[in-house]
Amino acid sequence: MEVPFVDLKSQYQSIKTEIDQALKVCIQTTSFIGGQEITNFEKAYSQWLGVDYTIACANGTDSIEILLEAMNIGKGDEVIVPAMSWISTSEAVSRVGAKPIFVDIHPVYYTIDPEKIEEKITKKTKAIIPVHLYGQPCDMTKIMSIAKGYNLKVLEDCAQAHGAEWDGKKVGTIGDAGSFSFFPGKNLGAYGDAGGMVTNNLEIAERARMIATHGQKGKHNHLMEGRNSRMDTIQAAILNVKLKYIDKWTEQRRQVSRSYYEVLPKSRIILPSEIPSGRHVFHLFVVQLSNRDLTMEKLKASGIQTAIHYPKALPFLTAYKHFAHKTKDFPVASVFQDKILSLPIYPELDITIFDSNINTIL
Ligand SMILES: *Cc1c(COP(=O)(O)O)cnc(C)c1O
Repeated sequence: MEVPFVDLKSQYQSIKTEIDQALKVCIQTTSFIGGQEITNFEKAYSQWLGVDYTIACANGTDSIEILLEAMNIGKGDEVIVPAMSWISTSEAVSRVGAKPIFVDIHPVYYTIDPEKIEEKITKKTKAIIPVHLYGQPCDMTKIMSIAKGYNLKVLEDCAQAHGAEWDGKKVGTIGDAGSFSFFPGKNLGAYGDAGGMVTNNLEIAERARMIATHGQKGKHNHLMEGRNSRMDTIQAAILNVKLKYIDKWTEQRRQVSRSYYEVLPKSRIILPSEIPSGRHVFHLFVVQLSNRDLTMEKLKASGIQTAIHYPKALPFLTAYKHFAHKTKDFPVASVFQDKILSLPIYPELDITIFDSNINTIL
């Protein structure tokens, strides 16, 4: 028996006719850059999310970087980020010339610990990037209140959290702006790289769009130097098909997570907890266990693929060794990184085919 970590093939099979048709139209009309599919996606995504503006771009990393620049964050500024995330979050901060300031994660919800943010705020702090890690929404009430008190911008990194909700509002719509990735393996994934920037702020929207399109406002009217960060039309066509199914797929992911709760041995491993007032979309199902590496090997031997997100918390990556961060400064993340294991999760997954195997190993 083989259980893949993610299975993009079975999802494709379930929507094959529509996807093939959408691709065929793009190719037959040679619509590769810009065009109706992009405009349609931006409109549909805004509507689905409940936000005024969506700007399609090349990938989720660009999207964070461009939004920071659109908010005028750069050299000399500090930006608060969680200690546990994919490197894009902090990398984008450094790329615009600012300094990432890491804050430890919450011991139960694994997202940035709001109680530990204020002690890291200085005169240079300009923004907070809460990451809705693994699909779990951050406590946006606390984060927005801190941001308001210190006049900071809030940029939500929603790369793992399409459709996650805080207090009934979809993430990405609560802060000043939200960043999305449509990398193939994300909850809403294209068939290549793609990203999206969302905001209710017209000024941020206009600047972000300008930066992503060579500083143009209308063709050949370059108001500034920008860059090239476009979403391919083919990717927008695929996302337009897939957006119709995202709510169903999210419900299926939540169902898979409920099944895990029913069968996994809670006495031996720590299961993820959904934050009250939040709706988790289970991009990843991350458990904690003491003998992680050995367990991972055993699962692999029995055909069950797992992964680690992430084996090193951001402050401890070689890329940040110049900051000389100490494990004692991040007591939660430094222990967490050695205990976490991501179990297979995708909408089509039926865990009854391997739950007894997994249970004997864990
Ligand atoms: C995937 C991811 C990104 C970056 O998205 P790309 O489209 O791969 O550039 C950013 N932040 C987080 C938390 C992610 O998981």
